[in-house]
Amino acid sequence: MNGFLKDLTMKKFYYNEEQQSYDAIVVGTGISGGWAAKELCENGLKTLVLERGRMVRHIEDYPTAYKDPWDLPNGGKPTQEDLKKQPKQNRTGYTTNAVSALWFVNDLEHPYNEIKRFDWMRGYHVGGRSIMWGRHSYRWSDIDFTANQREGIAVDWPV
Ligand SMILES: Cc1cc2nc3c(=O)[nH]c(=O)nc-3n(C[C@H](O)[C@H](O)[C@H](O)COP(=O)(O)OP(=O)(O)OC[C@H]3O[C@@H](n4cnc5c(N)ncnc54)[C@H](O)[C@@H]3O)c2cc1C
Repeated sequence: MNGFLKDLTMKKFYYNEEQQSYDAIVVGTGISGGWAAKELCENGLKTLVLERGRMVRHIEDYPTAYKDPWDLPNGGKPTQEDLKKQPKQNRTGYTTNAVSALWFVNDLEHPYNEIKRFDWMRGYHVGGRSIMWGRHSYRWSDIDFTANQREGIAVDWPV
């Protein structure tokens, strides 16, 4: 994309001066919010999307994407100092290596209480966990959506 087009796109993305009110406001730009915003926009609604995290520009904001372990200190493994900042994010055992750690929150800055263990892996940036997920895409059937109800656990699928 050339500079002029990019400036125009980003200006529209961040703030549209002509547009003072919105038909819909979407909070969060992960898969859920992103898809909702796409549908709303494509159906003609004036849509405002709010994101708490930083902007991520495709490709240019992926500083570690082309790094191999031998390009990184310690073969990409987190140090004890690193682990002190992401003790919960590190519970997966693989996401806090040097290639991926930048996408996960600092647990000291974003703490939460646990009555029993709850692994909450999060990233606060445009795209949310669509940047971090493992790319397993399962085909769900109607049986999956009624499993909780049939087995009497958790909550019934709400939609
Ligand atoms: C390491 C990892 C691997 C995974 N692998 C798979 C997989 O292989 N297959 C699979 O199906 N799923 C996988 N998942 C799960 C999947 O990625 C998530 O379920 C999905 O991406 C969640 O999308 P979401 O839009 O609901 O939430 P998120 O992607 O978390 O989006 C929420 C967005 O809202 C923003 N936000 C939060 N609070 C506010 C606020 N107050 N104001 C404004 N913005 C806010 C956040 O910054 C974020 O951008 C994986 C998840 C992780 C972490």
